[in-house]
Amino acid sequence: MPSSTIKSSAQVLQTFKNPELIKTKAYVNGKWISSSTGEKFDINNPALPADEGKIATVDSMSESDYNQAIEKANIAFEEFKKTSGRSRADLLEKLYDLVMENKEDLAKLLVLENGKPYANAIFEVEYAASFFKWFSEEAPRIYGDIIPASNSKNRILVFKQPVGVCGILTPWNFPLAMITRKLGAAIATGCTSVIKPASETPLSGLALGYLCEQAKIPSGVVNILPCSDASKAGKLITEHPGVNKVSFTGSTSVGKVLMKQAAGTLKKLSFELGGNAPFIVFEDADIDEAVDGAIASKFETSGQTCICANRIFVHEDIYDQFSSKLVAKLKHTKLGNGLVDGVTHGPLIHDNSMKKVREHIEDATSKGAKILVGGSKRPELGEHFHDLTVLGNVNTDMKITQEETFGPVAPLIKFTSEDEVVKLANDTNVGLGGYFYSNDLRRVFRVAEAMNVGMVGANSREISEAEIPFGGVAESGFGREGSKFGLDDYLVTKSLVIGNV
Ligand code: NAP
Repeated sequence: MPSSTIKSSAQVLQTFKNPELIKTKAYVNGKWISSSTGEKFDINNPALPADEGKIATVDSMSESDYNQAIEKANIAFEEFKKTSGRSRADLLEKLYDLVMENKEDLAKLLVLENGKPYANAIFEVEYAASFFKWFSEEAPRIYGDIIPASNSKNRILVFKQPVGVCGILTPWNFPLAMITRKLGAAIATGCTSVIKPASETPLSGLALGYLCEQAKIPSGVVNILPCSDASKAGKLITEHPGVNKVSFTGSTSVGKVLMKQAAGTLKKLSFELGGNAPFIVFEDADIDEAVDGAIASKFETSGQTCICANRIFVHEDIYDQFSSKLVAKLKHTKLGNGLVDGVTHGPLIHDNSMKKVREHIEDATSKGAKILVGGSKRPELGEHFHDLTVLGNVNTDMKITQEETFGPVAPLIKFTSEDEVVKLANDTNVGLGGYFYSNDLRRVFRVAEAMNVGMVGANSREISEAEIPFGGVAESGFGREGSKFGLDDYLVTKSLVIGNV
């Protein structure tokens, strides 16, 4: 798809093999419905100015539309919960095939609404599909248990049953995959869902609604409702007595609001929240591998993933070698519109992200950090473009080490000992991903066990795959997505005691 010229969003939409994927209304109970208030909002390509960038105008669903969807999801649940795991596996398998058949169009949609380069978008579509595949394989294997009773006349059985209607709230950085990771588990377990996709990027979620329709997922099992007011939709979903579980991916601050809102109905919750990932390069590491890992982990989707390296700790003995190799390799990257040939990194999603990146660079440089490469906005490319940046001489008094930047800035911090760096790595209230590079096997175990995070990459940055439990500790949230553990969040455990046998 990438070409040598930049096209407006409208021109790109004309290249779709299947234009049916472009939906602007909500998918509720198997039908495409308009907002009852008539409210709408525009979706813009972050790489282009508004006049060329507008992709579509989408219906913003009202409280009464959400109430209707929750009611339909409850009705659908009564039948869907009775279906066999095998039949739900077939539905998920069909969804997997449909996502893969529409890979190129879905990737274009992701580039348009999120800005990520086309190759990353293709990766996201495959990654998104992998959750349908994975959960299609898990659906027929939701086992209960038989427990030996203390009373020899009793028999004890344990059932796993679907939790009910799930509210799914997803972010803009992986607009398709963050839905499939949750929806795959919901369908596998026999739950029904009411989904609010991020307001910056609802189009890939709505395209998924179309694919659910094509896959003949029973009406009311999957409902997708865009809304321009996240706090209104979030409040309704978390407070509604007809929603049994909420799964949210987003910031820690919003997670805290949602948890308070859900307290009134004591819902089952799973939250994937912010991170502040440490990335440690020990003196015995393979430096080239560590440089490649740091570039992938820090700069993928221009630093806008929750498991991006946020603090790069480098041992003093190899600091100069590591930083000069990192800077040299970054010269081979290219910023720009994700649909243009050779572009490796795209824009940030919105003005607030740009503001945070500038604030972190300015705070760090005012306290003695040195810009080793990059460091500037790139207005000639568009208002949301920022250089991939490396800062040297960073210390832990700087904001950039205390808060998640969620942008393309790599701060390098020198350390001298393992004990010191483990303490520094754990000095944060969040713990999602963490990485280190070392060729000492004993150290691999020691450091992995000591890191206060939910996922560790030792000589690897690939900590997010369908088969790996994904989630954090402390203020990074709770619950796990993907993997065999990802089903638990959508199930309740029920015991049955049969007496006097
Ligand atoms: P954010 O404000 O929390 O937004 C993330 C999502 O939450 C958006 O889709 C947003 O919807 C929605 N949202 C915002 N306020 C809400 C509310 N009151 N009720 C319900 N939903 C609400 O975060 P952001 O600044 O856009 O994204 C970056 C943050 O998200 C980072 O801290 C990052 O670590 C975190 N994140 C975490 C993960 C993970 O897997 N742990 C993944 C991605 C992002 P609208 O778009 O409609 O406003």
